[in-house]
Amino acid sequence: MTLTEVRQLISELDIRPSKALGQNFLIDQNIRDIIIRNADVRPDETVIEIGPGLGALTEDLFKQARRLIAIEKDARLAEYLRHRFLGIELIQGDAVEILSPSAVASSLFPLPSSFKVVSNLPYSISTPLLECFVESKNKPRSMVLTIQREVSLRLAAAPRHKDYGALTVFTQLYYHVTIVHVVSPHCFYPEPRVDSTIVVLERRDTRTKLEDGAPFHQIVRLGFNQRRKMLRKLIAEYKGVAKGFQAAAIAPTARAEELNIEQWIILANTLKPA
Ligand code: SAM
Repeated sequence: MTLTEVRQLISELDIRPSKALGQNFLIDQNIRDIIIRNADVRPDETVIEIGPGLGALTEDLFKQARRLIAIEKDARLAEYLRHRFLGIELIQGDAVEILSPSAVASSLFPLPSSFKVVSNLPYSISTPLLECFVESKNKPRSMVLTIQREVSLRLAAAPRHKDYGALTVFTQLYYHVTIVHVVSPHCFYPEPRVDSTIVVLERRDTRTKLEDGAPFHQIVRLGFNQRRKMLRKLIAEYKGVAKGFQAAAIAPTARAEELNIEQWIILANTLKPA
């Protein structure tokens, strides 16, 4: 959609873009094309679009996917999209609630067995939404997201970098992360205050498999909650710390930020609650 089209539609629908809902609508066709190209949707695939807004990405996704599920919180936009795209599965509601692991586990929203996610995410929900997906039993095969640059740097960070943290480790446990494009605020109407990036997350397998029940999330959180402290001391409540450090070739003085994903897995697999 162009700036003129977006302005006209907003006026026809008599809406004022809401800051609280992160309503910065895409008006740059080049950026739309980059997102759609990276989503690489095949005719037999199911796509979940979060926050379809005025439909800047929806039109292409609707044409390409076998099934398109769109979750939009704003009732006025949901109503508009439902009429514009007959056949779309439009859910009006908060994506973080709808996709929360507890809602998904209780089958309130049964996730398809295989699906991709494509979204220009509202900034306020990018982190909670990513957490929903990485904690879910049924994870997307891939995600193409436009998010604030700062969050994408955290997702893609390497060990020892200041942006490397718990969100990085939880995401990279399941996904290979690539930042494909920086998006200027001029590509949206109204313009957001920050730069955005298009980031692609693709499912990956780790060399070592994380065992069921291993305290992975617990030790990663403990380690990064006090990232300046030695990890060994922060997880001392577990049995097998010395053995785990040896098995994963972790220096005894290491801090959380020094461990790569494989080392976190090996360590978590070795530890037992005291
Ligand atoms: N996809 C459109 C585009 O690219 O122009 C709109 C993107 S805009 C950045 C974010 C959209 O997410 C808005 O339509 C907003 O109403 C919707 N939204 C905000 N919070 C939401 C939530 N918690 N769940 C679902 N949709 C939400």
